[in-house]
Amino acid sequence: MDEASPPPDAKPHILVLGAGIVGLCVGWHLARQGARVTVLDRLGPGEGTSSGNAGAISAGSVAPLAMPGVLKQVPSMLLDPKGGLYIPASYWPAAFPWLWKFVLSARPDRVAAIADALASLLRGAEERHREILAAEGAEDLIVERGQLYLYRDAEHLAKDDAAWALRREHGLDMRVLTRGGIEELEPEVAPGYTTGVFLPQQGHCVNPLRMARVIARGIERMGGTIRRGEGRALITDGNRVTGVSTDAGPLHADVTVLAAGAWSARLLAPLGIRVPLESQRGYHVMLPDPGVMPRRPVVPADRKAFLTPMEEGLRIAGTVEFGGLDREPTAERAALLLDDLRKVYPQARTENAKPHWMGHRPCLPDSVPVIGPVKARPGLWCAFGHGHLGLTGAPPTGALVAAHLLGPPPNTSLDPFAVERFA
Ligand SMILES: Cc1cc2nc3c(=O)[nH]c(=O)nc-3n(C[C@H](O)[C@H](O)[C@H](O)COP(=O)(O)OP(=O)(O)OC[C@H]3O[C@@H](n4cnc5c(N)ncnc54)[C@H](O)[C@@H]3O)c2cc1C
Repeated sequence: MDEASPPPDAKPHILVLGAGIVGLCVGWHLARQGARVTVLDRLGPGEGTSSGNAGAISAGSVAPLAMPGVLKQVPSMLLDPKGGLYIPASYWPAAFPWLWKFVLSARPDRVAAIADALASLLRGAEERHREILAAEGAEDLIVERGQLYLYRDAEHLAKDDAAWALRREHGLDMRVLTRGGIEELEPEVAPGYTTGVFLPQQGHCVNPLRMARVIARGIERMGGTIRRGEGRALITDGNRVTGVSTDAGPLHADVTVLAAGAWSARLLAPLGIRVPLESQRGYHVMLPDPGVMPRRPVVPADRKAFLTPMEEGLRIAGTVEFGGLDREPTAERAALLLDDLRKVYPQARTENAKPHWMGHRPCLPDSVPVIGPVKARPGLWCAFGHGHLGLTGAPPTGALVAAHLLGPPPNTSLDPFAVERFA
């Protein structure tokens, strides 16, 4: 990348920090709109969190994680190491400020506004995936066979009533199934699950890492650069952000888009911008040859693990553990995923499981990502904090950022996504 200012008629030079699925989709849309794009990452494209997710493309998932009544769940988050969301005692002091904001965001009026914001971003997400993949000749990466949630009985389902109602209000096509309906879709599911929720229009990606690599190749095809390196700090000139200092020297750009996933807050802090971004550490286990294979993501509602059929086998992905960016993975959390699998498919073979994987979901307390310009810092844009829905939300985020930066201006407002909401 050249260090001099571009001549006035040149295409804008945009540096995207982070080659996770969000940074890649931002880079792809910017390149398609004619910008000169460089994407910088210490890893190869998609090799961080974005490689290991459950693959679900859940455009209808507009209910935030913190729903009214969440306060009642906090004791089990703190005390039950086998719970779906667990905060170990050694991490309580670090987690409490975030947890407090999380609980406050569960007020009914706030939840309604959050669902509206998420719907404005995620509506049409699968079509946005297909738009990129069709251009790259890789539409086989997405299949639409629906998603199936499993409940023990109607009482178990009732615990999630509020979240399902909110999604339905926003247009999600969902069908409640009896045991017979479950068996028609997935005959091998254990008999203990007698109630299901089927989402016929939600698809999934069969290989998130391949998808990231395909998008990276697309950026290069359109003249962009994928660059390997550590971004050390945002470079400023007065208030303006002019690029990123790296282990190989400074990279200057007209606009820098911060898309560094769960690491984004660390890069903003030296500029005095505080964002309550937490890693919700999640795990997966891959079974290349489990002897049983659902046709679509199956989600036992006990701990909401996803059992997703992928190109390379069955992926069991999920669980939420707090613990920050630097601690080692906890093998016990990953082992819980095999328990989740056995509840649904007791017959599954698990002896050939690949070593477990852990990734960092970039989570904000209100479940709304930060997307848009930093008003006090010209030259700096953000695209991070997609939490549990980064795979789903990445292509719409890319389209939105490119349209706001390069035009034509879209109808979707960036106001609900502003970083200034945390000021
Ligand atoms: C177990 C699990 C299951 C999930 N399931 C789903 C699902 O089914 N559907 C869904 O929609 N979402 C799912 N998610 C969430 C989704 O994977 C994430 O939201 C998404 O991957 C975040 O993408 P990202 O690009 O923001 O972050 P990342 O993929 O983490 O990318 C950020 C990149 O920035 C780079 N970086 C950071 N700091 C620097 C620096 N200083 N210098 C250079 N590079 C840097 C990192 O190396 C990394 O590659 C799941 C997540 C997990 C963990």
